[in-house]
Amino acid sequence: MTPADFLREGRAFRVLSHVDPDGDALGSALGLAWILAASGRDARVHLAAPPPRMYRFLPAGRFLVIGDAAPSPSERVGILDCTSPGRLGTLQHSVAAGSIVLNLDHHADNTRFGDATRVDPTAAATGLLVLELAREVGFEVPKEAAVCLYTGLLTDTGRFTFGNTDERALAAASELVRLGADPAQVASQVYEHRPVEGLRLLGRALDTLDLREDGRVACLHVTARMLAETGALPEETEGFASYARSIEGVRIGVFLRETDDGSIKASFRSTGGVAVDGIASQFGGGGHPAASGARVSGPLEEAKERILRAVGEHLQALTG
Ligand code: 5GP
Ligand code: MN
Repeated sequence: MTPADFLREGRAFRVLSHVDPDGDALGSALGLAWILAASGRDARVHLAAPPPRMYRFLPAGRFLVIGDAAPSPSERVGILDCTSPGRLGTLQHSVAAGSIVLNLDHHADNTRFGDATRVDPTAAATGLLVLELAREVGFEVPKEAAVCLYTGLLTDTGRFTFGNTDERALAAASELVRLGADPAQVASQVYEHRPVEGLRLLGRALDTLDLREDGRVACLHVTARMLAETGALPEETEGFASYARSIEGVRIGVFLRETDDGSIKASFRSTGGVAVDGIASQFGGGGHPAASGARVSGPLEEAKERILRAVGEHLQALTG
């Protein structure tokens, strides 16, 4: 089945995305729901937990369902920005056996699951693929959808600064602005409504800076204790890995966060064409060439040495 037929022929849809959703996961899912609703379809976006603070401004209408949801065989299931069914976390139990599944994604390591599959790693964001699919099917893109899809493009391109920022991404952004997205307002909501606790935590994280491999690798970390002492939520660490990468001479930035269950969430960011998705997959994770992540077992100091050894070996294999 083509993705276009998936949308055209369905009446009721549930839309899902990956665990710990980011701006593109939420933006593409909500954007698709608004587009479906504007064409007379019934749509729901299921999330395991409420969205992170910086994405609560996204227009959610009556679409959001938070928490466990019983499978519903009569609904078509759109799975967006999600490498594999496993990345749905607990939401994978809300997919009924026999449901028709759309897999729309831009991760190169997507496992190509689903009945209607479109995986385009050259797309800067899944939100861009939603916009293009709506155009292809001839569905209207209401203003609320434009805001959601624009947010996905803005965040997945690092405010239009990452290597995936290309003519196609900027043309889509321009179209979304024409359809009603307000760039200054979205940027302000995502990046400039930070709780002060988040900035205090950033200060503590910057103090952990550890440079390795002659300054080509930078690592920052946040412990559970730093979170407790500053009162910041874990979601406030989004973007911390970019600070590691932003240092002159750094090719790979690493950010590590101690989680509630004692495991370590690792984020990898690279610059200058160094691919870090392979490093993440070595630890059971994945992602994009320039932005990837994984969850590894603790304790933090041991995880850090294991990870930095792998990062160092990767760089040495590339550059000697
Ligand atoms: P972040 O470091 O911001 O959590 O994630 C960066 C990129 O890597 C995103 O595209 C995200 O979906 C992906 N990613 C992060 N953690 C994992 C993981 O554990 N498994 C997989 N497959 N991808 C991940
Ligand atoms: Mn994405």
